[in-house]
Amino acid sequence: MIINDMFYSLQGEGALAGVPSVFVRLAGCPLRCRWCDTKYAWDKTAGRDYSIEKMLQIVQQWPSQFVVITGGEPMICSDLPELVQSLKASGKHITIETAGIAFIPALPCDLMSISPKLSNSTPRDPKLAAAHEDSRLDIAVLRKLIDEYKYQLKFVVDSKNDLSEIKETLNKIGNVDLEKVMLMPQAATRDELLAKSPMVADLCKRTGFTLCHRLQVLLWNNERGK
Ligand code: SF4
Repeated sequence: MIINDMFYSLQGEGALAGVPSVFVRLAGCPLRCRWCDTKYAWDKTAGRDYSIEKMLQIVQQWPSQFVVITGGEPMICSDLPELVQSLKASGKHITIETAGIAFIPALPCDLMSISPKLSNSTPRDPKLAAAHEDSRLDIAVLRKLIDEYKYQLKFVVDSKNDLSEIKETLNKIGNVDLEKVMLMPQAATRDELLAKSPMVADLCKRTGFTLCHRLQVLLWNNERGK
């Protein structure tokens, strides 16, 4: 399978923020979000071909039971079930980070970290924008992911105006545990994160949603592989 990158760091976002974790970044994502911080993983050939055995060998060299499968978009990778099963068989705790645009049943996944994309992610290029709008939100898929897996829902917030769209999306999905909803400032740099965090914190105080850390931005200014 094509793996874009493997590295050892701290989980930066969500309920496991701060936990030392091995990251396995798969190649390929069709969404092309405007503010994506992993554009280098968009192309499905953007990486090296690894056997599952080799990948396991590399993952096991780091001293953590926590593995984060990220992308790109891992849920469109046909080899994902085999990858997750192999990691689980070696005793790992597995988080899958997904935009929630594709469903695979019965993965032995400990945490499905779902980040549905709002209209603030639409690319500026009109050709890319049309494809993005067609596929960024699939309510039926989000519902199935939530029903099947232990989950968290992370929304990227660019401005306080995003709140109405978040509420609308939650209403469409229906029956979401609001304690699992997290709001995350849209920020590519530490300065941007610090500037936007108070606005997102205010939204959290108003709604009861949880403020989502972005430790990789705060600690390393989003430097690749840190
Ligand atoms: S879904 Fe994630 S990986 Fe894909 S373009 Fe959007 S931010 Fe980037």
